[in-house]
Amino acid sequence: MSDASAPKIDADRVWRRHMEYAELGATPRGGVNRTTLTPDDIEVHRRLTEVALERGFEVSLDDYGNTFYRLVGTEPNLPPVASGSHSDTQPTGGRFDGIFGVLAAFEGLEAMADAGVQPRRSVEAVIWNNEEGARFTPSSMGSAVYVGNAELAPLLAGVDRAGETMGDSIAALRAAMPDVGHREFGAPYHSFVEAHIEQGPILEAEGIPIGVVTGIQGARKFAVEVIGEEAHAGTMPRSGRRDALVDAVAIVNSLHEIFHDEADEVRFTIGRFEAFPGARSVVPGLVKLLVDLRHPDNDLVAELGDKLLPAAQAAAKRCEVRVDESNRSETVVFGEQVPAAIIRSAEARGYAWRHIFSGAGHDARHMDSHCPSGMVFVPCEGGISHNEAENARPEDIAAGTQVISDTMFDLANGE
Ligand SMILES: [Zn+2]
Repeated sequence: MSDASAPKIDADRVWRRHMEYAELGATPRGGVNRTTLTPDDIEVHRRLTEVALERGFEVSLDDYGNTFYRLVGTEPNLPPVASGSHSDTQPTGGRFDGIFGVLAAFEGLEAMADAGVQPRRSVEAVIWNNEEGARFTPSSMGSAVYVGNAELAPLLAGVDRAGETMGDSIAALRAAMPDVGHREFGAPYHSFVEAHIEQGPILEAEGIPIGVVTGIQGARKFAVEVIGEEAHAGTMPRSGRRDALVDAVAIVNSLHEIFHDEADEVRFTIGRFEAFPGARSVVPGLVKLLVDLRHPDNDLVAELGDKLLPAAQAAAKRCEVRVDESNRSETVVFGEQVPAAIIRSAEARGYAWRHIFSGAGHDARHMDSHCPSGMVFVPCEGGISHNEAENARPEDIAAGTQVISDTMFDLANGE
């Protein structure tokens, strides 16, 4: 084991950098609005590239805008160990979701460079492009396309609300970093570890700085349409109406009852409810719902998801219901290798740790189909995330960064 010589991270530097990068897209309420490849997001990639090139790290960019920073190991032909996350945020996001995983990995490289230690395998910090899926849908496509779980061409053609394509945005990113190399998709990795704030309340409540993530919850996502008929609000009697809003409300109530479980483990959310045409004097002819359904048990998610259409149809009195499944992902359970390295690293530094399961999706989900993967969670205040009030303590950020750095070093020197 080479743990003894694992270098110490610079806790002040990594915290300073969090505060500095939180200025890129800073909102008046203390949060961050830095959606994918906006000028502020491009600036994250560019600024980190500048530091990396000064330090002699290799920098490369792939065709989907994922950026890779590499400290070359003593055996540079071996597949590298990677760590990273995303730099984009939700429009009303916080200062830690995503960027923590990027900055922790980068600090790992800097700590090794400062200490003058060179691991056997190369180590890489990665920014996975477009994890949040807020400006361009769907989410987590940077890691997905890298490992071959998604196709590049349709993603490049994807447009934001202003009509700009992902392809154009990636061209702007490349133009901002003219001195970096080109990276092929799918280049093999030895292993991958991602740091992230927990986005839930468990670690903070228990006073434990390190969560060793056991797996990532699967999800089924649906678009539901309730189709009635528009009519004049002043003339059409109730008996003659096919009011899509009335049926949609009945559907929402019925689904919430059907998906209610005593154990409170099913995560069922209707995140959008839109009535059309949305005019005061027109009986709504159409309601669109967006549904998100999650549970750790793949079989149960499958079963509940299949109930959605018949349950909605049963609740609708006069309208037609259509259900379209937009996205489906299975629950991932990480293998032993990376979590074991995280535990060794936490224990060597004397940090308390516990196993924890991720209810939210992360890039590590796709990476796990490519190489042994794992995740480190740190506490966040009140479990609040996807919110401008998102917060984390400097000492927890430091502990998580140290564990990421040590885990990368451990894996890079191991078999
Ligand atoms: Zn995130």
